[in-house]
Amino acid sequence: MMTELDQSYVDRIIPERAAEANKNDFGRVLCVCGCAGYTGAAYFAAQGAVRMGSGVVTLATPERAWPVLAVKLNEPVVRPMPCGADGMLSREALPALLSLAEKADALLIGCGLGRSYAVAEIVVTLIENAKCQIVLDADGINALTAHKDILRQAAQPVILTPHAGEFARLSGLENPQQGELTLFARKMGCILLYKGHRTLIAAPDGRLYRNHSGNPGMAKGGSGDVLAGMLVSLCGQGLDPVDAACAAAWLHGRAGDMAANARSEYGMTPGDLLHFLPDLLKRYN
Ligand code: AMP
Ligand code: MG
Repeated sequence: MMTELDQSYVDRIIPERAAEANKNDFGRVLCVCGCAGYTGAAYFAAQGAVRMGSGVVTLATPERAWPVLAVKLNEPVVRPMPCGADGMLSREALPALLSLAEKADALLIGCGLGRSYAVAEIVVTLIENAKCQIVLDADGINALTAHKDILRQAAQPVILTPHAGEFARLSGLENPQQGELTLFARKMGCILLYKGHRTLIAAPDGRLYRNHSGNPGMAKGGSGDVLAGMLVSLCGQGLDPVDAACAAAWLHGRAGDMAANARSEYGMTPGDLLHFLPDLLKRYN
């Protein structure tokens, strides 16, 4: 059965922030993102998490990307990780990443990570060992092309956020039907957030949701990274992962609609999603 997402559905998911709360009540999120060529993706993901209300955001990024990201980002803690000659994470980063993951309430892996054997080994090992909720995006998904069975071994259902190309690489399915998405989520025991003009969310128990917010002004590099950050933030704040996926998809699209109204579909940027998201969230004060 398909549920169409709307404002009232999402209003029931997003809690008010308790007056006496401190930053520990809003989750520690770890983003394993970025590489020497892709600092923007890591920036958008980490800022997406900040703007969605996380208590503490940590970004672990290869040391060659670190000088750029440490300057770009003020709120997140930016940690340099061992880096290969290719500018991506090297295997030597694994002990530090595992120890950071142990302290996290939710983990985002993938935005701008790049593709290499070392990255694939890191992604697989984190999935095998992390106890917290994991969101896999972009190169985190690409890393599983030859290892997707690992998803069944995760401590809890992993949330995957592929666009059509990433999903085709992972599953071999081009233009998947709704039933094929549901079947994939069920077989792999994962939550699938299949991004596009009308994003679909498939849960392993067969529930299916469709998002109607958003516009083609969002079809620009970086938009998906903002969504991944928003989603891991809501997971880290303790929301049920399917609820978090539904709310993130809806709010991300609404922020895109506000950006298009103010700045046009042509001229709006993923940074504008970060800019307009807070206005959208005023209703939850
Ligand atoms: P990515 O391809 O990873 O950058 O993600 C793009 C994001 O923008 C996803 O959340 C899509 O759902 C959204 N998006 C892209 N094109 C459209 C569109 N035509 N209508 C609505 N949302 C879109
Ligand atoms: Mg993307």
